[in-house]
Amino acid sequence: MGGIVRNCRLCKEPMESSPFIMCPTCLRDSELIRSFVQKTPHVTLEEISESTNISLEKIENMATLGQKLPLNLK
Ligand SMILES: [Zn+2]
Repeated sequence: MGGIVRNCRLCKEPMESSPFIMCPTCLRDSELIRSFVQKTPHVTLEEISESTNISLEKIENMATLGQKLPLNLK
């Protein structure tokens, strides 16, 4: 019956099987960040966090994962 088969790559929460490596919440967050970065190039991770209300830790994890995010921030 479906069920939980793996963990979100980002927040490590259990998630149901999907084509994505991230849970729906993280996918939404990553889209938020991606559109924000596209509108605001050269923004820092801290500024992204403040503007999107997504935790800095999560944004850093996204940058580390490097999935679908135009973040070249170190
Ligand atoms: Zn997640």
